[in-house]
Amino acid sequence: MAEEFLNLEHLFKYFGNVTAVDDISVQIGKGELVSFIGPSGCGKTTLLRTIGGFHRQDAGDIVLDGQNVDHLPPERRSTGMVFQNYALFPHMTVYRNVEYGLKIQKLSKSEREERIQQALSQVQLENYDNRKPSELSGGQQQRVAIARCLVLQPKVLLLDEPLSNLDAKLRMTMREEIRRLKDELNLTVIFVTHDQEEALSISDRIIVLNEGVIQQLGNPDEIYNHPVNPFVANFVGQSNILEGITEEEGPKTLFKNDALEFEITDNNSQQRDNKRKIMIRPERIIINEDSAIQGNVSKVVYNGNVIRYFVDLNGTEILVDQFNIDSSRHYHKGDHIGLEMPKDPHFL
Ligand code: ADP
Ligand code: MG
Repeated sequence: MAEEFLNLEHLFKYFGNVTAVDDISVQIGKGELVSFIGPSGCGKTTLLRTIGGFHRQDAGDIVLDGQNVDHLPPERRSTGMVFQNYALFPHMTVYRNVEYGLKIQKLSKSEREERIQQALSQVQLENYDNRKPSELSGGQQQRVAIARCLVLQPKVLLLDEPLSNLDAKLRMTMREEIRRLKDELNLTVIFVTHDQEEALSISDRIIVLNEGVIQQLGNPDEIYNHPVNPFVANFVGQSNILEGITEEEGPKTLFKNDALEFEITDNNSQQRDNKRKIMIRPERIIINEDSAIQGNVSKVVYNGNVIRYFVDLNGTEILVDQFNIDSSRHYHKGDHIGLEMPKDPHFL
């Protein structure tokens, strides 16, 4: 992480008896893009609005660039917030929309003009000055909303589910655009999403929230491959979570339960013979006729690049993803198949 830039210190926010933000502490570095993800109602928007000054926290501090900003209203915090519905003024042109926040700053007309053109060029919307929002596509409206923040040169850009109204292709493009802007301007960005794939692809670090509490803070690979609990394992990506025991058998270590048994490399000898919980991602299981683990395909979901098989192993359902490379090796409901488990499952 770069130098600490935005510190949230033991933040709490209540609505009646709902604790929307429950003792959140995190340090975010300058130029970092951090996502908040979690299910609907977990407190993402509340936390973002609290940082932006649209809610006042009930306890805790927010320190931005060395300054405690708790007492400052949104427009004096040096944070720029892009709302989910963009909140553009429909009757104003693109130029006027972007100019709006600048009016309270004492800048000459030519300085304003220069800043507006710069912001529009940063979001690649030159020559759209005179359009009204209704004459723009969803992606272009999104860019105007971002330009309206950038023109104020914020220290932190706060984005609340900014891509959720865009179609799938455009969402991909805008992810790259936001990364590019962040890199070019060394912007610190907080990005709220409920879409785990989006969070994995755009973030430097991810904060997984549930019921106002941080479940895990880590980079995308840590979150995906080393989730700290079943909530994170299931919220980010799909997972097989198996309970069983580990047991020595000669030089080997086995993981066993009623449904299956396979060899693992496990260095945690203190935990032997105890109940253990492991997580295996569906794409790490290989379909192999010769494997001792045999099951029946109970359902097949075709996703294009990946085919997902639901495999019944003595009553335990296992998800297996097969990359769609060789159509002669596709399976169907009712087929009997063998599964090769990875030797290095993640222990929960
Ligand atoms: P998310 O953005 O993750 O979907 P929110 O931050 O909107 O979640 O909501 C977190 C919790 O706080 C929810 O239980 C929600 O009902 C509650 N909440 C949010 N805003 C308000 C409000 N203005 N008044 C009362 N309760 C609210
Ligand atoms: Mg929200």
